[in-house]
Amino acid sequence: MRLSLTPSAAHVSLARLSRRRRRLSRAEVALALAALAALVAVPQLSAQRPVLSPQARQFVVRDTALLALTNVRVIDGSGSPARDAQTVIVRDGRIAAVGPAATTPVPAGAQVLDLPGRTVIPGLVMVHEHLYYPVGPGVYGNLTESFVRLYLAGGVTSMRTGGNMNGYGELNIKRAIDRGDKAGPWIDATAPYVNGPNPFGQMQALNTAAEARRFVDFWADQGATSFKGYMQVSRDVLGAAIQQAHARGLKVTGHLCSVTYREATALGIDNLEHGFLAATDFVADKAPDSCPGQGKGQQSVNAMEVTNPAFTALVAELVQRNVAVTSTLTVFETFAPGRPIPPGVDVLLPELRDAYLRQHATVSRNAQSIYTTLLPKAMAMELAFARAGGLLVAGTDPTGGGGVIAGYSNQRALELLVEAGFSPVEAIRIGTLNGATYLGRDQLVGSIAPGKQADLVVIGGDPSTRIADVRNVELVFKQGVGYDPQKLVNSVKGKVGLY
Ligand SMILES: [Zn+2]
Repeated sequence: MRLSLTPSAAHVSLARLSRRRRRLSRAEVALALAALAALVAVPQLSAQRPVLSPQARQFVVRDTALLALTNVRVIDGSGSPARDAQTVIVRDGRIAAVGPAATTPVPAGAQVLDLPGRTVIPGLVMVHEHLYYPVGPGVYGNLTESFVRLYLAGGVTSMRTGGNMNGYGELNIKRAIDRGDKAGPWIDATAPYVNGPNPFGQMQALNTAAEARRFVDFWADQGATSFKGYMQVSRDVLGAAIQQAHARGLKVTGHLCSVTYREATALGIDNLEHGFLAATDFVADKAPDSCPGQGKGQQSVNAMEVTNPAFTALVAELVQRNVAVTSTLTVFETFAPGRPIPPGVDVLLPELRDAYLRQHATVSRNAQSIYTTLLPKAMAMELAFARAGGLLVAGTDPTGGGGVIAGYSNQRALELLVEAGFSPVEAIRIGTLNGATYLGRDQLVGSIAPGKQADLVVIGGDPSTRIADVRNVELVFKQGVGYDPQKLVNSVKGKVGLY
């Protein structure tokens, strides 16, 4: 939080009062104190920016109360076409004005950042992120420190974690960022997974509705602001968790298997992860409350045409019940043969990078892989859902066999949405305003509009015509503070996997 010029103005008025010879009346003192309080309070209300620690500040290259981005192309996140030659005014961490350079004056005293050839987009708002990464067979390493920096470097200024494998680590890093102790995005911190008896070493097994309610209450009390049902959860447990979370004003998503999309929708779930690839609705002999295996579910999805009434009816149900669907094409791409090596693997520890490159070679040799057809099917289904009016949101899911690298993968997610058939500005909307809308933060973030928080990404080039330009992030503003992506990346380069 910054107090620009107002405290000095307050000091002046107090000094003026104290220079007077006679004693001040009680009313005059009260008036002076009220004036002082008002002067100090106003910037606090409008800025709400934390004081950054030296550790966070080392990544900051722009920090001023009044900033003008000029001659910049704006993609505002609403899905509207890109607008050339714009001026964006940032005041106390908020967007004060945006419009054509000719009709948007630069206020006196503003620091000017002239940006010809650049594009500014809203900070990304992505909803299936993780603060862990596969560091061995079935083992997830806790990477809160490096991943929050990589996310911010990649242009992510808000994110939901889509499942928590590190308990309090997730909540603590969120609080450290909010306090200004660490550089990173704003985080909607998900509780540990809501699951039934399961083979995962880091998950609780919830057997009854009463256990589910206690679990939700406990983690909500600890500060978790989202929940995620998982593959072995029963309808009873998931339903109770949803009710309890909703009673506390919190949302629930799911990476499902034991519960179908239709069943979860009836239970009131808010969001479904992994597009339609975690749907077991089309498995013919599925037993209730039992996961038939992710492979079996995916075979049934692979065989399902997007024009099949069974699929279109499910889509209509989700749209009607306002259930958002999260695209996580980035993780599925790493399972598909013939795909490029994903961006960012060079930041990994050499051992992890080599392990992933071996994995990539193995995947590429697998001519029988279901993902050859399943990845395009996933894309077609997400496009169909969005075209039917569904709220498609995006995340990256840094799990699987590795290769989904925080920050880099968020940019790749936008490229894959364009490959799926969305226009570049639609893809950017999915990665910004749609995420903010789902999180209920669209009044604050997700698009470039006056009054919103100045969460902005300055990009070299024009992603509205060449989506790959989203990789050219030059500067990331969070609440008007400009972070250098290269400094953030360099601070963890070659060490991602250690912390
Ligand atoms: Zn995940």
